[in-house]
Amino acid sequence: MSCLFCRIIAKEIPSRIVYEDGHVLAFEDLTPQAPVHILVVPKKHISTTLDIQEGDNELIGRMFRAANAIAKEKGIAERGFRTVMNCNREAGQTVFHIHLHLLGGRAMHWPPG
Ligand code: 5GP
Ligand code: ZN
Repeated sequence: MSCLFCRIIAKEIPSRIVYEDGHVLAFEDLTPQAPVHILVVPKKHISTTLDIQEGDNELIGRMFRAANAIAKEKGIAERGFRTVMNCNREAGQTVFHIHLHLLGGRAMHWPPG
């Protein structure tokens, strides 16, 4: 298995897990860009957001609901947070297993860099 996040899901590579259920895993980003920087990933391998199929609709909802639960638990829900999925090169995607970045704990800039 060559996908980094599939290996993290399989616990072949250690990570700091903050949430897990049958469909979704969430863990701390190795290089945090904010005081809270969590990656929420589907346990199913999907390479990019362009590869999301109709049958994945519920799974994508589960990712956002997990992010919401983590944001509440981390105390950043009310003050605000950002959820981001980068797609392909110009957006800066480096790991080709979709992941929802959950960023918070500081003011976010807009437009993003
Ligand atoms: P992307 O650039 O694809 O949107 O996001 C990939 C994210 O994965 C980056 O924020 C990067 O810091 C994180 N990352 C890369 N390798 C690892 C790793 O081995 N463990 C963890 N926890 N995060 C990683
Ligand atoms: Zn994968």
